[in-house]
Amino acid sequence: MDSWDLETDVVVVGAGGAGLVAALAAAEHRARVLVVEKEERAGGNTGISAGLVVAAGSHLQRAAGESGTPEELAADAWEANGHTSDRDLTLALCRASGPVIDWMMDRGVPFEWMSGYRYPGHSRAWLHAPRERHGEPIIAALLSALARQPRIDLRLGTPATGLATDETSAVTGIRAAAVAGEPFAVRAGKVILAADGFGANREMVARFIPAFSEALYYGAAGCTGDAIAWGMDLGAATAFMDSFQPHSSIAYPERIFVTTFLVNNGAIQVNCHGSRFSDETKGYGEHALAVQRQPGRRVYEIFDRRIREAAEASYARFGECVNSGALVAADTLEELANQLSLPPGALQLTIAQYHTAIARGHDEFGRRRFGKPLVPPFYGIAVTSALFHTQGGLVIDAQARVQHTNGKTIGNLYAAGGTAAGFSGNGCGGYLAGMGLLSAYALGKIAGDQAASALV
Ligand SMILES: Cc1cc2nc3c(=O)[nH]c(=O)nc-3n(C[C@H](O)[C@H](O)[C@H](O)COP(=O)(O)OP(=O)(O)OC[C@H]3O[C@@H](n4cnc5c(N)ncnc54)[C@H](O)[C@@H]3O)c2cc1C
Repeated sequence: MDSWDLETDVVVVGAGGAGLVAALAAAEHRARVLVVEKEERAGGNTGISAGLVVAAGSHLQRAAGESGTPEELAADAWEANGHTSDRDLTLALCRASGPVIDWMMDRGVPFEWMSGYRYPGHSRAWLHAPRERHGEPIIAALLSALARQPRIDLRLGTPATGLATDETSAVTGIRAAAVAGEPFAVRAGKVILAADGFGANREMVARFIPAFSEALYYGAAGCTGDAIAWGMDLGAATAFMDSFQPHSSIAYPERIFVTTFLVNNGAIQVNCHGSRFSDETKGYGEHALAVQRQPGRRVYEIFDRRIREAAEASYARFGECVNSGALVAADTLEELANQLSLPPGALQLTIAQYHTAIARGHDEFGRRRFGKPLVPPFYGIAVTSALFHTQGGLVIDAQARVQHTNGKTIGNLYAAGGTAAGFSGNGCGGYLAGMGLLSAYALGKIAGDQAASALV
């Protein structure tokens, strides 16, 4: 690069969870930090997420006597991903989990510990979230902390367009486009890539995750894989590029996130023939693939008042399903079937078979987690499955430094959150709920600390 328009210590690309945490961490080491965000709003997927993050050993857990350890959390992650994630990095992530929750709370992030709730695969109550069960309050609190930090310059509506390197291929800065479109170059001691994955990039999805190339995309528009592509151009190693997180319960056409609170409390899903087709509780990734294979990619979530009330108690935004008209209510199964355009006889038979399975303790799909038999009034929501976020990315070491395919570290380049290779193995069956945000916060903190400490 011949000339620079700006100079700083650390550039962070992306103002989602990983980027904002990394920026704060680096600035607290007295580094000058420039954060560039391509969208007009900060937040990315973190801001639209359900905000649930796993952690072990947070202050909230310890104060309540929860003694689950980072090693047990790592064991849950390995159980889910088939022991495919790097041992040292997974342990580093899990060991950073409790401290990063405490650190974020000290900076105003309003986490609660979800003491009574475990997702499938959680051997302990690992989850923390804001009361709203949404990422918005997290981003708002991080932005407030950023505003109190004079060393951070946050520029929204400013996409980074590439990396600058020297003759040794070490990174020396970034190129970016100003709000008005004029390109500019920033010289930086370290660059942290926190631009998430490539869910919004149809070409990359078709290349790496063809099974979901036609699916609804439910993530943030800015996640177009830019940073992963720049890393690959520099020769960075990548891993788990086919790894992705879908979800099996998006009200459609309303596009409202229904969450798994319903099926975890006993709801079922049926296809347009009124038949069940999979174990709805086996992990929403695998089940989402089964939904994609149903006619029209559309299925129907069926439940009763007890389940509706449980969902309303645990998920404040469930009301959106009601207000939008997505929720259909009926006093009989026949009436419900008619309203959803399902064959009434088939739906009645399916519910009868489901009740037999509850009494037996298992069904033909392997489901073993049931609620009680469904009783009137009944409810239904038409849903589809959607791509949420991708989890393949750049290989990093335990200091979040990007690794070259030749086994060396790429100079001055760090990655965190969805830009780094994830912890869910290949495909969509290995995700432990809450790990996406943990890799954003914990790797963001590690990247910010390490990048600032390594400045010369
Ligand atoms: C609907 C939904 C619900 C979810 N719920 C959960 C949950 O409850 N728990 C959980 O653990 N995970 C959840 N996830 C996944 C989780 O949100 C992500 O794993 C996590 O937010 C990734 O954080 P990040 O900081 O890496 O990326 P993001 O938060 O997406 O931030 C990346 C930012 O980089 C910006 N950017 C991209 N390219 C550029 C560029 N060239 N220049 C400048 N800026 C750029 C983007 O615009 C974006 O703002 C959910 C995802 C979705 C879509």
